[in-house]
Formats: sequence, structure tokens, C-alpha cells
Amino acid sequence: MPDELLQRLRRFHDDYFPGVQERFQSLVHDGQHPSILFIGCSDSRLVPYLLTGTGPGEVFMVRNVGAFVPPHDGSVGYHGTAAAIEFAVLKLAVNRIVVCGHSHCGGIRALYEEATPQAPNLAAWLDLGREAALPVRMTPEALRRTEQRSVVLQLERLMAYPMVRERVEAGRLKLHGWHYVIEDGEVHVFDLRSGGFVPASSADHSGTGPFDHTPVDDGSRIFNEIDVALAPAPRVS
Ligand SMILES: [Zn+2]
Repeated sequence: MPDELLQRLRRFHDDYFPGVQERFQSLVHDGQHPSILFIGCSDSRLVPYLLTGTGPGEVFMVRNVGAFVPPHDGSVGYHGTAAAIEFAVLKLAVNRIVVCGHSHCGGIRALYEEATPQAPNLAAWLDLGREAALPVRMTPEALRRTEQRSVVLQLERLMAYPMVRERVEAGRLKLHGWHYVIEDGEVHVFDLRSGGFVPASSADHSGTGPFDHTPVDDGSRIFNEIDVALAPAPRVS
């Protein structure tokens, strides 16, 4: 039986690499200088390079179940995503951070389902999205809203990283909240002014701040504000 994966590796080296060899060699020689940190869900249908038209050396990427951001609460541990944020901001000096969730996200759906006892790490990890879940029955609309609310929640958590907050406030770093709708091939960008997500086809920016226009020291929380915008309509009985 042919080893298909091995064949793909050989194809990459023999057919594809010669065309980009020079690019990779200069990236080795000059080092990497990506300007974007992309925090995305691990979902196989989310392909950041396709969405953003970027290539080697342009995006520093970290992916996890749900595109969650661990809190910067003083606890130090094996937090791969937190380490990547620190590295990208402090060492690589990226000037944009994208948090990208997506439609039909299994991580977000799991917030509405029973935990799997054999997956204690997954259950603990999902805690990072629980605040975004709505107290309603799981419907496609509730899932869509939860996916979007989670993106904003993670942006807010990002702002609690001192090195992030400092640079955002100094105008050296911009945060982007994205929700990728797989079936439409379209990213919806978070717009602070409307408190909602706008399809890229009709948006006039790739994501406001979202903290660019909002005082951050007055105790207000963006996430609470969008709660109002995205709260389920009251039931009429
Ligand atoms: Zn996902």
C-alpha cells in the first residue's frame, strides 16, 4: 500500500519547493519578521493563508480548539497560546493580532454538550469559552452568536496582557476579531461601533481595534456591551 503522506512530502520537496526556495532562503538569512499574530481555531476547514492571501514569513500562527486566549492572571504554566502571544508581541513585535473563530465550530458546540469524561484537558480548556455561551437551547443561531461572542471575549482577554494593552494604547498594535463563515467563504469582522460583525464584502475596515475608540480604564467591558447587541430577543408569551 503506498504511503500517501510520504508521497506528499516528496511532492512538496521536488515539485513545489524549487519555486519558493529563494523566498525561504532569504527568510532563513534575514530571519522572520511577520507582522500578524493569528490566533485561530484548529478546525481543518479554516485555512488562514487562503483567507488572507499570505505566504511564508508573513503570519505567526497559533491555533487551538475554539481560538481561545488563556487569561493573563499571574498563573504561569504550560500555556502554549499565552507563550505564543508573549513571543509574538515582545520578540517579533507584530503590529496586528487576529482572533479568528468560525461557523460550525466544534469547540463552541461543545459548550452546549456534556463533557467527555476521558477528556479532562478539553473540558478545562472549554472553560475559556463558557462566558460566551447563551442561556438558551442550542440552535444554529445560538451557536453563531456564541461563536461571535467568544471572539470578542478572547479579544477582551488579550487586552489583559500588559504588553498587549500597552501597545494597543500606544497605537502600535491593532486587534482584529474575525468570524469566518465556512460555507460562504467570507470573514465577518467585529465592528466596535455597531457592536456586531460585518461581512468583509461590506465592511470598511478589517476590524476596529476593537479597543481603538473605547476608554479602557473606566471599568466598562466591551464584552458586556456586545451582550446587549447580541442578547436573545425577549420571549413574548
Ligand atoms: Zn472551531
